Amino acid sequence: MSVPERQARSALARLVTQRGLLRGNLLERRRVCGKPNCRCLRGELHASLYLVFSEGGKLRQFCVPRAWEARVRQWGADYHEARRLLEQISRLYFEKVRQRQD
Ligand SMILES: [Zn+2]
Repeated sequence: MSVPERQARSALARLVTQRGLLRGNLLERRRVCGKPNCRCLRGELHASLYLVFSEGGKLRQFCVPRAWEARVRQWGADYHEARRLLEQISRLYFEKVRQRQD
């Protein structure tokens, strides 16, 4: 196994075995709540966080508590990195096929 392949595989193995992996994007929405005399009616809108992801071709979303923001961002970043490493390994194998290497 080549050095780049070994490095990508061990980085990927670390992510898959030790980290949370979450596909989706965090989105902040600002809205008016509907309560009379609330500050949001004077322009100070309420901000809520949502996790947005696609499932079966449809977009879905969950509300994410602020206390969870950092870990959800970390899980998303780790998922993204795992995808990047898988793609990197796949490219090495495209080359093997193209060059007829074992
Ligand atoms: Zn309000």
